[in-house]
Amino acid sequence: MTSLDPTLVQGLRAGLRGPVLAASDPGYDETRAIWNAMIDRRPALIARCLGVSDVLACVRFARQHSLALSMRGGGHNIAGLALAEGGLLVDMSLMRGVWLDPASRVARAQGGCLLGDVDRETQLHGLAAALGFVSATGCAGLTLGGGFGYLSRRFGWTSDGVRAMELVTADGRQVRASEKENPDLFWGLRGGGGNFGVVTGIEYELHPVGPEIYGGPVAWRAESAAEVLELFRTLASEAPRELTLVGVMRKAPPAPWLAKDAHGQLIVMLLACYSGKPEDGEKLLAPLKALGKPVGDLLQRRPYVSLQNLLDATQPKGRRYYWKSEYLPGITPELVAKQREHAERILSPHSAVIVFQLGGAIADRPADHSAVGNRDAAAVLNVAASWEKPEDDAANVEWARSTWRDMKRFSTGGTYVNFLTEDEPEDRVAAAYGKNLERLSRIKASWDPQNVFRMNKNIAPAAS
Ligand SMILES: Cc1cc2nc3c(=O)[nH]c(=O)nc-3n(C[C@H](O)[C@H](O)[C@H](O)COP(=O)(O)OP(=O)(O)OC[C@H]3O[C@@H](n4cnc5c(N)ncnc54)[C@H](O)[C@@H]3O)c2cc1C
Repeated sequence: MTSLDPTLVQGLRAGLRGPVLAASDPGYDETRAIWNAMIDRRPALIARCLGVSDVLACVRFARQHSLALSMRGGGHNIAGLALAEGGLLVDMSLMRGVWLDPASRVARAQGGCLLGDVDRETQLHGLAAALGFVSATGCAGLTLGGGFGYLSRRFGWTSDGVRAMELVTADGRQVRASEKENPDLFWGLRGGGGNFGVVTGIEYELHPVGPEIYGGPVAWRAESAAEVLELFRTLASEAPRELTLVGVMRKAPPAPWLAKDAHGQLIVMLLACYSGKPEDGEKLLAPLKALGKPVGDLLQRRPYVSLQNLLDATQPKGRRYYWKSEYLPGITPELVAKQREHAERILSPHSAVIVFQLGGAIADRPADHSAVGNRDAAAVLNVAASWEKPEDDAANVEWARSTWRDMKRFSTGGTYVNFLTEDEPEDRVAAAYGKNLERLSRIKASWDPQNVFRMNKNIAPAAS
């Protein structure tokens, strides 16, 4: 990049509606910062795109000048895939428009939308797309990798609810992909990550949900873990699709809803969302309310969007993060016992061992319905380390790794592509796609033969 003629950079600037930042420009460091502070890469240029024509110009520019191209939606990828050292960052974060057609139950989201942008607009009409758990996550990154959240057991992976995507492809064209238009590309986009182009728009199918649902967390001291996790296991095994549960063990944050004397102590927490009629959720979750002596209880009727925002404060941008994750065939007594054992060893007040319930509609479609793999998983384990100081990196990463080494015995053998950290070896990408990898690589070879889009969990055929 240092050898790139400044007049060329000037040319890129002149050709874009949005600003282009180089390292010497004010705002460069704030703009390049992403959610995971463990990743500190310096793109040569950041193009803050304002429309499709800006994106087209960037893809052509990067190709012409052999610059590594990366894309940022919400900047939430744990592996920091949004940033290429010395490359051109196509920053989509200013493109956050959402258009709604409530009658046909479709929302069209621009490529830089966050989950919360879509939920806010769709909930005005009592509608929702099946998105994820934290509102600041990017729609594009989450959806391209598959995507799951509180509604997945009713409606499938987030990508199952995509009707069409618009993108700028490696050869610098604007392309639409749907069941009818470029169906092979559409198949690959639903799970294949950012391997095929810069997504500028996503059309989501919407479902009647809320605006009021029954949901929220209940927390108990760790001493109750055995009982609570057993209830989690039994409720999860009998749950209707309207109910999704998440079991968390962590140290209690100093949050006002948690008893003061529990702050800093190990707790077990169940997060619930019943997205059907709230009164049915109240009945179904009564055993959870009645269990022992909680140190905090926010399980109540509430707006769906408030549940979608509830975890945001626990996942701030700029902390240090490292995850290890596996799909699980079920939630067993042995699994929850290990969840507790490793939670007891947690080093940081922010880390957690989390089990998200899956199943339901995810498994309705055949395994090769789209690129996203692992439809048979009943749950997903995430060993989520989070801490503040660089000097604590090694110890926290080792806590996550050693927990994972012990708990991976419970795995289906599959893993979630969107939870893979920077240091995961190639076979983990294969584990994310299973049998779908071969077709995915073929589609990659035909749409991006030169592997222009390689800042991702790459599925280019070995020869390229
Ligand atoms: C706090 C937190 C909560 C999460 N919760 C969930 C959850 O509930 N469910 C779930 O399924 N996942 C969840 N994830 C994982 C999440 O799906 C991935 O981190 C995903 O990569 C985030 O997308 P992003 O757009 O924010 O990422 P970015 O870091 O901006 O981008 C990551 C990669 O996605 C691709 N990408 C992003 N934007 C575009 C675009 N416009 N066009 C083409 N490619 C693009 C690129 O390959 C890019 O390198 C969570 C992550 C975090 C950090």
